[in-house]
Amino acid sequence: MKVLVINAGSSSLKYQLIDMTTEVVLAKGNCERIGIGGLITHKIADGTTIQQDADFPTHTEAFQKLVEVLTTGEHAVVKNLDEISAIGHRIVQGGKYFSESVLATEEVINKIEEISDLAPLHNPAHILAIRACQKVFSSAVPQVAVFDTAFHQTMPPKSYMYGLPYEYYDKYQVRKYGFHGTSHRFVTHRLGELTGWDMSTKKIITCHLGNGSSIAAVNHGKCVDTSMGFTPLDGLEMGTRSGAVDPSVVLYLMKHENLTPDQMSDLLNKKSGFLGVSGETSDSRDLIAASQEGSERAQIAIDIFRYQIRKYIGSYSAAMGGVDAVVFTGGIGENSDDLRLEVCENLEFLGLEMDPAKNTELNHKEGRVSKDGSRVEVWVVPTNEELLIARDTKEIIEKLPK
Ligand code: ADP
Repeated sequence: MKVLVINAGSSSLKYQLIDMTTEVVLAKGNCERIGIGGLITHKIADGTTIQQDADFPTHTEAFQKLVEVLTTGEHAVVKNLDEISAIGHRIVQGGKYFSESVLATEEVINKIEEISDLAPLHNPAHILAIRACQKVFSSAVPQVAVFDTAFHQTMPPKSYMYGLPYEYYDKYQVRKYGFHGTSHRFVTHRLGELTGWDMSTKKIITCHLGNGSSIAAVNHGKCVDTSMGFTPLDGLEMGTRSGAVDPSVVLYLMKHENLTPDQMSDLLNKKSGFLGVSGETSDSRDLIAASQEGSERAQIAIDIFRYQIRKYIGSYSAAMGGVDAVVFTGGIGENSDDLRLEVCENLEFLGLEMDPAKNTELNHKEGRVSKDGSRVEVWVVPTNEELLIARDTKEIIEKLPK
């Protein structure tokens, strides 16, 4: 069985075609510049990559091109479309409706649309992609929706409610949703496989650190808290996002800088974080290079991030009444050994002892980086959200009546 995984944005469409018998990625790529031109980058399993200019007025043309490169020419990976059994879509916001992945029926699509207001940059694009797939693929090809928020739906009200007038929860569903759920779920599950632990008895803190970053507290296999909130802006300082700030700062800046809500949103989402603090870059590698060249502001941006991660580890340990393992994943979590070491330094009081040599050795590899015998284990587990989307898709379509 082959599953096509789609991560659609308003002007791009990332894809992977995965053979679910072997879980091997047959091809992956990106259709970019939808609505303003068109460019497709397509890479097959042996590493060969092609890049072609195209014309993508809408997502439909992007899917048509995607089908063309998958099925024709020397980089084709399937003979015809019938070989693709199902399509799995990453959906950013599932609101309170979805605590697990589901078949994308008309009713489900309508619900995703209904909550578009909670993710205005993402959900409308996901719907465009689902509709485009309906046009380009046979209607017999099932589509599955996999939500970033679903894993966090197990949070109790004390975690997801804000101290705001309750009427805004009723009226607008203002609450914490949490994001990156597919990644937190993937690494939690994988940790269970690696350790042989029964995850329903363990307390885990999963740190997904990339351009966007979030941390989750997973108690007995269920998410009980997470750092992102109503939107993916909350929590940690990120590449270009501020993370949590005193809400009064937002009001103060809007007033004194004469900013509209859209301008303020732009400032918080695109001009803050590593980029805003350093004034140089949103990329963690470049930030480290800049600090090594003497940029004090780059160093402050690094310090804020690491300090915040450390505080989350402390607070989630307290929230769960203990912790058995901390997992690092995402571009930064998987690759930055000195970040892991600094974040976990002097946490012996929690029962956590790092193994610095193993920690350095395991950059971008999977494995334990705490000392043998450390009561709290620390693991690096590369995430694979696409694979989990494909697995969910396979599981759902296998249950469909034949
Ligand atoms: P996204 O959130 O967009 O999926 P990623 O998970 O790919 O992003 O993470 C991107 C971040 O990971 C960038 O800040 C990048 O600098 C960082 N990163 C990637 N490789 C390394 C590395 N070897 N060392 C330190 N940081 C790295």
